[in-house]
Amino acid sequence: MHNNNKELTLSAPLSGPVLTLAKVPDAVFASGAMGDGIAIDPLNDTLHAPCAGVIVHVARTGHAVTLRADNGAELLLHLGLDTVELQGNGFSMLVQEGARVANGQPLLRYDQDKVAQQCKSLVSLLILTNSQDFQARPITLKSVKVGEPLLHIIRRNGAGAHTEVELVGEERIGHVRIAHRGGLHARPAALIRQTAQGFKSKSQLHFAGKSATCDSLIGLMGLAIGEQDEVQVSCQGPDAEAALQALLIALSTPLAEEHHAAAPAPLAQRNRVAEAGVLHGVCAAPGLVGGPLFRLNAINLSADAGHNDPAQQRQVLDHALTQVRSEIAVTLTQAGKHKNTDEEAIFAAHLALLEDPALLDAANHSIDLGMAATHAWSQSIDAQCEVLQQLGSSLLAERANDLRDLKQRVLRALLGEAWHYDIPPGAIIAAHELTPSDLLQLSQQGVAGLCMAEGGATSHVAILARGKGLPCVVALGASLLDQEQGQTVVLDADGGRLELLPNAERLADVRHAERARQQRRTEQQAQAHTPALTVDGVRIEVAANVASSSEAADALAHGADGVGLLRTEFLFVDRHTAPDEQEQCHAYQAVLDAMGDKSVIIRTIDVGGDKQLDYLPLPAEANPVLGLRGIRLAQVRPELLDQQLRALLQVSPLSRCRILLPMVTEVDELLHIRQRLDALCDELGLTQRPELGVMIEVPAAALLAEQLAEHADFLSIGTNDLSQYTLAMDRDHAGLASRVDAMHPALLRLIAQTCAGAAQHQRWVGVCGALASDPLATPVLIGLGVSELSVSPVQVGEIKDRVRHLDASECRRISHDLLKLSSAGAVRHACHQHWPLS
Ligand code: PEP
Ligand code: MG
Repeated sequence: MHNNNKELTLSAPLSGPVLTLAKVPDAVFASGAMGDGIAIDPLNDTLHAPCAGVIVHVARTGHAVTLRADNGAELLLHLGLDTVELQGNGFSMLVQEGARVANGQPLLRYDQDKVAQQCKSLVSLLILTNSQDFQARPITLKSVKVGEPLLHIIRRNGAGAHTEVELVGEERIGHVRIAHRGGLHARPAALIRQTAQGFKSKSQLHFAGKSATCDSLIGLMGLAIGEQDEVQVSCQGPDAEAALQALLIALSTPLAEEHHAAAPAPLAQRNRVAEAGVLHGVCAAPGLVGGPLFRLNAINLSADAGHNDPAQQRQVLDHALTQVRSEIAVTLTQAGKHKNTDEEAIFAAHLALLEDPALLDAANHSIDLGMAATHAWSQSIDAQCEVLQQLGSSLLAERANDLRDLKQRVLRALLGEAWHYDIPPGAIIAAHELTPSDLLQLSQQGVAGLCMAEGGATSHVAILARGKGLPCVVALGASLLDQEQGQTVVLDADGGRLELLPNAERLADVRHAERARQQRRTEQQAQAHTPALTVDGVRIEVAANVASSSEAADALAHGADGVGLLRTEFLFVDRHTAPDEQEQCHAYQAVLDAMGDKSVIIRTIDVGGDKQLDYLPLPAEANPVLGLRGIRLAQVRPELLDQQLRALLQVSPLSRCRILLPMVTEVDELLHIRQRLDALCDELGLTQRPELGVMIEVPAAALLAEQLAEHADFLSIGTNDLSQYTLAMDRDHAGLASRVDAMHPALLRLIAQTCAGAAQHQRWVGVCGALASDPLATPVLIGLGVSELSVSPVQVGEIKDRVRHLDASECRRISHDLLKLSSAGAVRHACHQHWPLS
């Protein structure tokens, strides 16, 4: 075999519609556990070689064959699903193991009627079984004919440079009877390989005088182990016993769908089935890091005798509370100086909680009964947490974490413990639930990542972790806390996974990826100040979302082409009186000034829903998110909107200021504001009009995009609210966090419709919701017709770099096919295949 590095194009082995793996109705194939690849729903009766190579394995039952291409890529061609059960009935293999075949040569013929009637599905797979060394990129997702180009196979960087793990420790041996229906065919073999790869030890199966390493799918299948055959398993290495036990279980447990061949499980569940040695949670802040696990334990109090001096204990508690208040005040001042609004808001809330009479009264009452200050404080907080948790709102339950934070802080002050953890830099922190104070401490100590047994992706800790760029996974479950202190783990936050037993090779890969990412960031930043054009010359504006003039200055420094969204409701959050016209005008002017000669999109105030302002109390509502928010304010407080428009009209130069209206649902709302703007311009003697745009964040607006575009100068899609309202899922709901995904095909259809509507009137469309900052979505948004992306300032360089690697016409072609997919997971999977993230 000669191994060259050439890119290989595979031709279609069958004729028929092409499917991404995510759409295959089989949990193991769909989860990618067996490797990257593609599927075809065949219309013909002969499977052909997709390239020249050597047949390295032929299934006993004649339904699958593995071909090794000349560049070393190993391709499993698997006809139909669960066809192993046909025991060869209806299949005739046309080649033998070891034979060399030419591209397009017939490999196996099957009886279409017979097989179709007896198997679960005829959908056939082309799987790259050594995906660790090669990558598959589909060329088309349409119907193909035998011989047409189907996939590109590209060798991954550094492939083949495997690090050998030194095998120490005793060998462990066990025996087991194979429970998998049809024996150890491709899918169970893939699971065995994956299980074995979760451990450092090397494992082998021995059967009928032959042995195979569990690292090799082909080796395992080559043992031709049948159902109920007894095999020997041997494992050698530092964790041999654990590996052996895991393998014995995997070999003796039939795959879930072998019992009930039903619809595929949801993606998250599928991954759970497939991965041994991995805990699954929800991504709260992205990233991939490796390092020692460091468990943070909460303070546990021993029993209190209960005969304390109340006066003295009250004094002790007061003293501790004063100390913690002044610590928090320092944090607040720092946050204020750095214009860190998230941090400010969170710690301001903590200060308020420390003064909460419900907490203090309960603690003092217990102290009066003779309880120690430590126990009284602890008990008072626990009681409040319970109240919050019983309200049935996950958002409020998350706030209980803020209370637990204060419990620990005050307890530390009471016990005289240093407010500091001794943590090795580069550690990955594991805790029941981290608190905002913990997070600030930890980020200063140079930790690499965070994982929590509990928590939600919208908690304050999650917001802070994202702001600090610290990878963070929440809701990993209680077993996180059973893990050993110091054990080396990999935190794959993007995938919501904590790998408990990464092997040396995986760790080296992760470290390499970390270094590469750093380097990439530096390179991207160096290019961030030049415009972003796709390879075929389409200019995409990459602007930034900001909440203040200092964030605008930061955005300009990061290379932003402008401000794509200034959320004016955040300009005056921390005050009790409304800003007057002049004050507002100064604030808007400051943002314009901070942006040099770039344009700034300023959104009129979007209060209501989950955003409330002290100086603008709105009536309580049964469904605030469906109530008076955004532009609907014009209905109840028209004078406020007039005041804001007047302030906006007085900035200079007006040509750089664009006005954006939130939560528009019908054309009349836009026409009304246009009229008000005209009237105010006349009042102020202005001849120039600023551009006026509409947020598309309600499905109604997306569906009416054409009508809105007739009267608007531009449209800007707010994918955060558009997801919430399209999917009927609260955007802050922790339990739904992983499902509120703007890549849902329903949203993509609304985005496509928005762009099509805007194009009718030659208007441009931007995206200012969080989807714009997701590099996986960049090609899709460009493909659907978006020409401006407003992202978080630190991501400007990354998104511009992404744009520069894309071909807009290819994006258009593929994105429209993605609208036909059936879930956000399927869209993401297809995007990874078409436009892999570097
Ligand atoms: C959105 O809804 O996507 C958006 C950008 O607005 P906000 O997040 O401020 O509601
Ligand atoms: Mg919104």
